[in-house]
Amino acid sequence: MTGTAGSPRRRADGVPEPRHLRVIVIGAGMSGIASVIKLREAGIHDLVVYEKADRVGGTWRENTYPGLSCDVPSHLYSYSFALNPDWTHRFAFGPEIQRYFERVADEHRVTEVVRFGEEVDRLEWRDGRWHARTRRGTTDEADVVIAATGVLHHPRLPDIEGLDTFTGAQFHSARWDHSVPLDGARVGIVGTGSTAVQIVSAIVDRVEHLSLFQRTAQWVMPAENPAYSAEERERFRRDPAALAENHARLSELFALFANAVVDAESPEAAMIEEACRANLEQSVLDPALREKLRPDYRAACKRLIISPDFYQAIQRPNAELVTEKILRVEPQGVRTADGRLHPLDVLVLATGFHTDWFMRPMEIIGRDGRTLSELWDPRPIAYLSISMPGFPNLFMLNGPNGPVGNFSLIEVAELQLAYILQLLERLRDGTVTEICATAEATERFEAERVAASAKTIWVTGCRSWYLDDRGIPATWPWPFARFREVMAAPDLDDYELR
Ligand code: NAP
Repeated sequence: MTGTAGSPRRRADGVPEPRHLRVIVIGAGMSGIASVIKLREAGIHDLVVYEKADRVGGTWRENTYPGLSCDVPSHLYSYSFALNPDWTHRFAFGPEIQRYFERVADEHRVTEVVRFGEEVDRLEWRDGRWHARTRRGTTDEADVVIAATGVLHHPRLPDIEGLDTFTGAQFHSARWDHSVPLDGARVGIVGTGSTAVQIVSAIVDRVEHLSLFQRTAQWVMPAENPAYSAEERERFRRDPAALAENHARLSELFALFANAVVDAESPEAAMIEEACRANLEQSVLDPALREKLRPDYRAACKRLIISPDFYQAIQRPNAELVTEKILRVEPQGVRTADGRLHPLDVLVLATGFHTDWFMRPMEIIGRDGRTLSELWDPRPIAYLSISMPGFPNLFMLNGPNGPVGNFSLIEVAELQLAYILQLLERLRDGTVTEICATAEATERFEAERVAASAKTIWVTGCRSWYLDDRGIPATWPWPFARFREVMAAPDLDDYELR
């Protein structure tokens, strides 16, 4: 018999047994893998992960573009419970990160509970449980759902006339077509975000001609990417304490960055700006090109680009920075507003993602028939980015309005998981069967978040994917220390417990 609210099953010694919970995790990326490991550690073993693809890895599985790397240091972009002494570079490349996630998933027997090729398309709260359905028609039920569906995974194609008339190869950066030869080709790249910049550096020496179509210039923070020597890796392997110390040190360092961006007037924000400005002045020799590359907004207003070699790459003789507006795409290439045709064999759309979709287009129906589409009209909202009123026992990792920026989303997910596990304890100890944030707490959090965002660097005059349709950053606007503090223990007064 499963213990119900108010009547937990008791062991012979009188100690109540935890209520059995079945949990569905959606997504086997970075946060889905961590969910399984942490849920099991907490004693929850009735678990299934639904994953739409055929491998774990999330964003690192989907992005395979040349030059793919993580601009968060590898020793920080690691699970705190699975630190990796063997990272080959300060900033690891995509395939190595993908292998890391696959290894951790295998070593912790995560893969055995993943149902691959199963995309959840409907969730409904009915009779005190979540009822899930996948595109293939599989149905399942659970007491709790953890949405670990990621942020940057719905490619956004640009609204450019004539895209479908192009006769060369064309694809979004997250759907790289490796059958298309780059060597000796004329390649155009639309966009100047973190993705485009990494691609430019990686392919410029292979292609015949590279055209980078820039709508908005970007600030670029220089950062060398040295390899770790065999001795350094051996030292980390021999000394797990040093490895953990290194992780903690990097975490504190990145917290400083997070503090800088939430206070546009901070000395740290000025330092970031100065480093980017010096990089531009010192690295770009041609004054005309330098001015084309000079942003007219503050550094870190858009997501900061971190690159050891973008400025060098764009100054190669076969590279061209095109700042004329794109008029349309034609069968032979891209026509810009000055009337010029840029002939191309390959067109790469590094134009970002629909960053406000999260679990959508999944249909989610909460208590009393309330849908997620209704709650998220006109835009996503959640209490502390984790829980939503009317959607009991549904928790999000890296959900809306959480900390994003140039720091480790792994650390964010781990903190959120530790918080969610504390909520699950209330379900397991039998005192309640349903938990979700109250509408009041959600509205209060949202109002405080919006008010605090006025101080941030993100509102100092640029367009970016951080901003919602009102121009308000859909992010955590406080220092990272506050996030850690809030995640340490849920304030149950902000929850509706039934
Ligand atoms: P992004 O930052 O959203 O950049 C999209 C780019 O496409 C922008 O330069 C944008 O110009 C341009 N664009 C969009 N529509 C356009 C149009 N119609 N015409 C011309 N240009 C257009 O996308 P992303 O580079 O893929 O990066 C997304 C996020 O992924 C990053 O911010 C980061 O959080 C993450 N990421 C992380 C890493 C890492 O190393 N950790 C690497 C890659 C990506 P405007 O600037 O004018 O809008």
